[in-house]
Formats: sequence, C-alpha cells, structure tokens
Amino acid sequence: MNPYSVDNYQRPLLETPDGEDKVLMHSCCAPCAAEVMEAVHASGIKQTVFFYNPNIHPIEEYEIRKNENKRFCDKLGIEFIDADYDKDNWFERIKGLEDEPERGARCTVCFDMRFERTALYAAENNFDLITSTLGISRWKNMEQINDCGVRAANRYDDVRYWTFNWRKKGGAQRMIEISKREEFYQQEYCGCVYSLRDTNRWRQENGRDRIKRNIKFYGHDKPE
Ligand code: SF4
Repeated sequence: MNPYSVDNYQRPLLETPDGEDKVLMHSCCAPCAAEVMEAVHASGIKQTVFFYNPNIHPIEEYEIRKNENKRFCDKLGIEFIDADYDKDNWFERIKGLEDEPERGARCTVCFDMRFERTALYAAENNFDLITSTLGISRWKNMEQINDCGVRAANRYDDVRYWTFNWRKKGGAQRMIEISKREEFYQQEYCGCVYSLRDTNRWRQENGRDRIKRNIKFYGHDKPE
C-alpha cells in the first residue's frame, strides 16, 4: 500500500504562517492546482483561486487551461477569480529576455508579474496571505518561485507569501493521480510562446511531432 497515494493519504491539517483562515491562491493550471487546492480544502482553510496568467499563448490554450481550472473550482465550491489576459503588458515586460532558457531570467520576470497582480488583489480585497500552485511542478525552481512570491507580497505591509512545499509527502505524485481522476487537459509546454518554441525545437531534434493543442488529457487521449 502506498500511504501517499490519493486514496490512502491521511491529509494533515495544514497551518498557515500566522494562523490566517483564508488564502488567495494564484493558480497556473488545473493539474498543478488540484493537489494544492485539495490539501488546503481538507484543512478547512478558505481559499479563493486567482487565475492571472497573461503569459499563456495562444489565447486558445489560455482558455482551455482557464476553463479546466474553473471546472475544478466549481466542483469543490471554490471561488474562481478570472483576472485579466493582459498579454501586451506581459510581452512588454519580457522584452529582451525572449531567448532566456526556462527557469532563467525571463521566468523570474514572468513570476514577478503574476505575483505582483496577485498581491495587489490581496491587498485590495482583504487577504493577508497569498500563495501559488506553481511550485508543485518538478519542472519549476521552487526557490525562484518563492523569491518572486515573497518579493511581491513585500510590496504591502499586510500581505504575506506562504512558501509551503506542496511537492513533499507525495504531493507531486498525487498531482498526477488527481489529474488522471479528473481527466484534466494535459498541456505540453510551460505556457509562453517562447516555451512553446523551445519545446517544439527540442521535439524536432528528438524526432518527435510538434505539439498539438487540445489532444492530450490525463488518463486518456481525446479521440480525434
Ligand atoms: S517558460 Fe513559463 S515561467 Fe518562463 S516565461 Fe515562459 S511561461 Fe513564464
């Protein structure tokens, strides 16, 4: 028996840093969000999901990811804030960093932008605590994400970033299990046009087909 699988895991009661009873959860996509949302939900901490990801390209991909995340929020009865898709601002901030590798300087600017908006919403809407689902992915640098989150929260006296490690104690595995259970859309690149370009480049070099949108779902392939 695997004690960390979603069917067997006895979720501990999580404690927020200062005993806050609610959190504004920046979410990047349903697969990353679901395990984090279930962990917070099981602990009786009220959460509001804040979907602000103007990095995702193109808009068709953005809409699919957003709708999958909203579908899961609706299932758990969690409020879902559909924030701006202000992609022009995102491209403006990223200028000069187009050829940076993933986990490099472009990603720092990308996280900064997304967390700054999350922290602003928190400050304006009476949230003392923010966090993000981004860190659960093994493709991401958690230290980089936490640094950006803390930096954004520090812009406001009353907002704090929760640097919880969602990967631990089987979190990364449950993320996949829940994604299969919910048959979430399975995106194949981080999100921006440059990650799409670089992933396709890698695929080409390794004899694989280019990414096709709206085809792959966890647990099954959508019939064409
Ligand atoms: S690779 Fe991902 S985190 Fe980095 S800039 Fe692109 S979308 Fe943002």
